[in-house]
Amino acid sequence: MESASSRLTVIGIGYLGLTHAVCMAEIGHDVLAHDIDAGKIAKAESGESPFYEPGLEPLLRKHLELGRLRFTTSIEEVAEFAQVHFVCVGTPQGTDGSADLSYLWTATQELARHLTGPSLVVGKSTVPPGTARQLAERVGELAPAGSELAWNPEFLREGFAVADSLRPDRLVFGVESDGATELLRAVFEPLLTAGVPALFLDLETAELVKISANAFLAMKISFINAMAQVCEAVGADVAMLAQALRYDERIGARFLAPGLGFGGGCLPKDLRAFRHTAEQLGVGSVVDLLGTVDSINLSRRAKVTELARNAVGGSLDGKRVAVLGVSFKPDTDDIRDSPSLDVCDRLISEGAVVSVHDPVALPNAAIANPALRCAHSVCDAADGADVVLLLTEWSDYQAIDPAMLAKVVHRRFLVDARCALDAGSWRAAGWIVTVLGRP
Ligand code: NAD
Repeated sequence: MESASSRLTVIGIGYLGLTHAVCMAEIGHDVLAHDIDAGKIAKAESGESPFYEPGLEPLLRKHLELGRLRFTTSIEEVAEFAQVHFVCVGTPQGTDGSADLSYLWTATQELARHLTGPSLVVGKSTVPPGTARQLAERVGELAPAGSELAWNPEFLREGFAVADSLRPDRLVFGVESDGATELLRAVFEPLLTAGVPALFLDLETAELVKISANAFLAMKISFINAMAQVCEAVGADVAMLAQALRYDERIGARFLAPGLGFGGGCLPKDLRAFRHTAEQLGVGSVVDLLGTVDSINLSRRAKVTELARNAVGGSLDGKRVAVLGVSFKPDTDDIRDSPSLDVCDRLISEGAVVSVHDPVALPNAAIANPALRCAHSVCDAADGADVVLLLTEWSDYQAIDPAMLAKVVHRRFLVDARCALDAGSWRAAGWIVTVLGRP
């Protein structure tokens, strides 16, 4: 392969792909982005992000106006546009817990068939180790001579996706040749010049960096939630325990927030896919470890349902529950595997009437579960409620006036499942407050 042009393409414009396309334009490339979903493409073309991500839309509009970013549903156009192609399609959870790689195989093969000259196909989706090597073989069979495949796993966090893409902690590449390394260095040159560390690894190690990072983060969250269970049993305070642990640099301050646990389009499915891979590889210790992490995480959802049930006197049947926050975490409208929505499902299955509020995720929640009553203000959600549950810790909720909310509810019961509110001020306003893991 010869030198990189500054043109590149992005295939799949979901949370990862659209952010990547916009940020590649921001660092100076001419980008053509593709998706099979014509609705998403039309929205993006009109300057509207198909999902909520802080800071993304202004950059999208900027680069549409500058002409540096274009969208298409045509794979032929993509194949002809550039030498470097980033594949960013979804790898959701399959029925047996493994990663469903069908979108990735379809997208990569479609691209490879249409390529007209030596090209570099760069996978960014999260995949089990061994996937990239199999795809590389297929690209070798289908694409013009001199084409190859590399892997560039992505570590961005929804809610901070733009900042994470423009200034990542590190760049990881799985490469098979010096040519691929050179091309990738050229593409990411502005980030490398800014001092972002870059690691050029073999394909399998690059794939593993991503899934082991996610497994470790999930493990940290489940660790503090397991400690919450101990705190509940002995009357200790998990919030203070976490605060004290954070001072220890060996442990680190992040991902130690006790509460309802993790969800979203990445951690849960990546954890289960990794567990599935470890099973196939016969690495029992990883199978056991990740299985425990997953079950601790899910147990918190059952615990919060139990706290709600207890708060309303032992049966949720016919009771009104107000839920604050439905996105899987704050600052996103992503409700994939949302712990909050899972709790809502459990409450509804026990006969509760559930009103939900969320600053941005209500439209997605309404589609996911039509039985939910969507409220456009916290007061509307809490109107006549027997219990209020804080399930996603949007910062807006810290500004709620407990005395004002006390006027609209039926009973002043609050379950803070994210240790996010000032329990003292709620109690002072007459609320009975339960906080997961706190006495
Ligand atoms: P997503 O579901 O939001 O987006 C996937 C997109 O791919 C969709 O728009 C879909 O229409 C498109 N697509 C599917 N098949 C296609 C095809 N053949 N051609 C073109 N487009 C096609 O998913 P996402 O959250 O963006 O995740 C994508 C990948 O990135 C996953 O492997 C995920 O694990 C990984 N990842 C995601 C994040 C994140 O925060 N969302 C972070 C790091 C890594």
